[in-house]
Amino acid sequence: MTQPTLLAIDQGTTSSRAILFSAGGDIIAVKQKQLTLHYPQKGWVEQNADEIWDDTLWACRSIIKEVPDEAARIAGIGITNQRETVILWDRETGRPVHNAIVWQDRRTADFCQSLKQDGHEPLITERSGLLADPYFSATKVKWLLDNVEGLREKAEGGALAFGTVDSWLLWKLTGGSVHATDATNAARTMLFNIRTQQWDDALLSLFNIPRSILPDVKDNVADFGHSAPDLLGRAIPIGGMAGDQQAALVGQACFAPGMVKSTYGTGCFALMNIGKECKESRHRLLTTPAYRINGETTYAIEGSIFVAGAAIQWLRDGLGLFKDAADSEMLATSVSDNNGVYFVPAFTGLGAPHWNPYARAAISGLTRESTAAHIIRAALEAQAYQTLDLMDAMHSDTSHDPAVIRADGGLVANNFVCQFLADMLNKPVEIPAVTETTALGAACLAGLQSGVYGGLHELENIWQCARRYEPCIGANDRKALYEGWKKALEPLIP
Ligand code: ADP
Repeated sequence: MTQPTLLAIDQGTTSSRAILFSAGGDIIAVKQKQLTLHYPQKGWVEQNADEIWDDTLWACRSIIKEVPDEAARIAGIGITNQRETVILWDRETGRPVHNAIVWQDRRTADFCQSLKQDGHEPLITERSGLLADPYFSATKVKWLLDNVEGLREKAEGGALAFGTVDSWLLWKLTGGSVHATDATNAARTMLFNIRTQQWDDALLSLFNIPRSILPDVKDNVADFGHSAPDLLGRAIPIGGMAGDQQAALVGQACFAPGMVKSTYGTGCFALMNIGKECKESRHRLLTTPAYRINGETTYAIEGSIFVAGAAIQWLRDGLGLFKDAADSEMLATSVSDNNGVYFVPAFTGLGAPHWNPYARAAISGLTRESTAAHIIRAALEAQAYQTLDLMDAMHSDTSHDPAVIRADGGLVANNFVCQFLADMLNKPVEIPAVTETTALGAACLAGLQSGVYGGLHELENIWQCARRYEPCIGANDRKALYEGWKKALEPLIP
């Protein structure tokens, strides 16, 4: 019998890719294109929405061309994406009316500050599970409506559509016939009530955003329509959708309360499954739907760190310390310790659990003995210190103390990072066989919709451990290293 395949669209911050999976979760083909980031002003980050779509379509078509037999058996498409990034487009022409404003963009920092000062943050947290930070979509949408001429009138007149990247891709993929999103992406806009699972009138009014621009919100496993037949050669059902971090939680099969996955890509995002009860964090973490299936929501607590791998990119491109990110491992291990050097990579402010949009990166503890290798080592060590900050907050928020951490993302190719993570967390770190967990998660969601899988329990069998790192440093060393980090962090905390 011929086995069905599943096509995942994984639209990330730095690249747009398509991955074809077998029903067993093996990668059959991958196509990807780097995406341009634009920095029009200090703290502003934009992307071209047409480029996002063109590259995504190119990636899907290239896969179909490369493996036509397997592509003919695609049972469903799953979409996963960089979250929070805002795109507004004209419903009539289907054209974006502005560049996409990327999640990293800090242009609304002052407005967020005023929201806090005016006492609006408790309402925001209670309804959306988020904090008043420029990271989320709402203030970016408001900025566009307030600052781009004609947009507010257009919005009031019903001619404008808003979407995060998932909605934009879905709209384009369905030939402009479906304007929808899923619960996990909606939850990152700061306009969605995660308890009622509806757009929230009080939040819409706080940000002065008209309802007419919003997409429909569906489950993560749902009928999202079909691809327009002329795009991929035939109409293929789109059956799964989730924000990248939630998709990775699915791809890592973290279905039991207390299970944690931590992804190290451009940023670092750790999510802990907390089950069916929506709990507010008391330690400035976010509450977010992990997945909504058959109308039932499972929640997660999330710690978002804005800069992880981006710090390695900066060492490579900004300082020119090495040519390839992989070289960082050899350089970091060429010295026996950090020699007191700490690198807090707060290039775009500090995320969880500190939340300071005004903080900027710092390298501290430099002496005349410090070398490039110490700085590189400090940047890699920072991944673990940042994660430990999150895990401490998660542990205080929930009764869960996870037995292991399932890690993924580009940085887990680095053995030093994985080992140091296990050392600092004092827990085993497991790396799955398929490290493309985000795309795998999207494929799994589509597979649930198309009947390839009978339920989440079947997805647990797809997950395989490829490498496991056991903690191997003493408690005193761990404590001393972490104290050094806390000292380096202190001046950046509000
Ligand atoms: P994203 O999906 O956010 O675009 P990826 O998961 O593809 O990111 O990870 C890419 C990041 O990982 C880059 O920032 C890169 O610098 C970093 N990276 C990749 N390989 C290594 C390595 N061997 N050592 C350190 N960093 C690495």
